[in-house]
Amino acid sequence: MENVLKEITPKSVDYSQWYVDVITKADLVDYAPIKGFMVIKPYGYRIWEFIQEAMNKEFRATGHENAYFPLLIPEHLLTKEAEHVEGFSPEVAWVTMGGGEVLSERLAVRPTSETIIGAMYSKWIQSYRDLPVLMNQWSNVVRWEKATRPFLRTTEFLWQEGHTVHRTREEAERETLQQLFIYQRVIEGELAIPVVAGRKSAGERFAGAVETYTLEALMGDGRALQIATSHFLGQNFAQAFDIQFLDEDGVLKYGWTTSWGSSTRMIGGLIMVHGDDKGLRLPPRVAPIQVVIVPIMRGAERDAVLAYADRLQKMLSARFRVRLDARPEFTPGYKYNDWEMRGVPLRIEVGPRDVAQGAVVMARRDTGDKAPVMLGDVVDAVATWLDDIQAHLLEEARQRLAERTVAVSDYREAAQHGYRGFFTGDWCGQESCAEQLKADTGMTIRCLPLDAKPRSGRCVVCQGEASERMVFARAY
Ligand SMILES: [Zn+2]
Repeated sequence: MENVLKEITPKSVDYSQWYVDVITKADLVDYAPIKGFMVIKPYGYRIWEFIQEAMNKEFRATGHENAYFPLLIPEHLLTKEAEHVEGFSPEVAWVTMGGGEVLSERLAVRPTSETIIGAMYSKWIQSYRDLPVLMNQWSNVVRWEKATRPFLRTTEFLWQEGHTVHRTREEAERETLQQLFIYQRVIEGELAIPVVAGRKSAGERFAGAVETYTLEALMGDGRALQIATSHFLGQNFAQAFDIQFLDEDGVLKYGWTTSWGSSTRMIGGLIMVHGDDKGLRLPPRVAPIQVVIVPIMRGAERDAVLAYADRLQKMLSARFRVRLDARPEFTPGYKYNDWEMRGVPLRIEVGPRDVAQGAVVMARRDTGDKAPVMLGDVVDAVATWLDDIQAHLLEEARQRLAERTVAVSDYREAAQHGYRGFFTGDWCGQESCAEQLKADTGMTIRCLPLDAKPRSGRCVVCQGEASERMVFARAY
């Protein structure tokens, strides 16, 4: 019965079902009684908190401060920037009643906050001395989605959105890229997810942006996930919201703004990049539990084993997040499966023989490797093993990304790979080719990678002259 309850559909059988099995059985989320919404349970929320901590550290180190702006945005503000409202209006949820009365103006539940923050910045910024303004908000947003999937696309999701104003174009452009690279550091360093950094093509840009930069990650099923974005907004929002400052030369000028965001979607990426048929595999830096101790308790030696395991837990707790699983109702084998499913990076087994020898057995979740370690060496060994696991998960994902990135000279070659993976090829820059690519194959331009060298090849769609390198894929 126990094993039946814990069974996870193999990835190769049904990847979508595997994903749903993992997130629900590992206790990360549950479905809410509202269609398209999810409840993030403590085990999943803790991962989000680690991401928040890592991001906040980077944001603060670069001079940003956290603030909070209202959930509801008056319609007249949302509609001020024309492209922006056009891009977002299909998915906006509106509040039309309050206090039992019809409101004189509809209020949008924020889909993003450029507009309400722009309105406030306009009030706060008078002089070049007020610049730059560097703020970030941790909040929820609502975008009414037709098809949803926990973490990846939900009607409401948690995120951070940074909003900055600068005196010059150059400074704003520098900020946009700086924040993109902060995301890259956190996503690769903490989540062990390798990414491709690039610009979005015009057709894929954020509504109202001059330039959108993105990080694209490759999921276990060969589909792309846009995992964080950073936008250079030029003066579009400054003009729409009248964000002006008196410069040193006495001239009134519009500010240059940026915005950048990353969301709980990263957790979806984490699951799909590292998970296997046993369940989650969490990188130690974001694992709510890094080490689980499983005592093997039998007969007369039961108390001695438990005391030993308890001592071990105390030794490790000062440096690591440790759980001692002494639940008497479950067998060690059941516990192994249970913690493997939850992705705990390291397991320590303690049995009567280990107690007698003053040792433990350590087992890695990522590779399954096991080895005996003397009690006196355990603290150092755990530190080393956790570092190894963190590095190995990133390396493994990097290798897969390299193996599944295929250079093509004609986009139809992607069919030989079942449209799974990242495809790179030259592009003429015409939206008509991007549209044909999508119509024929369901693939979209994920980005124009930042590290691409200047080129003069042939467009993989129309075979016309091409000057851009693109990465294209099917995406979540
Ligand atoms: Zn073309």
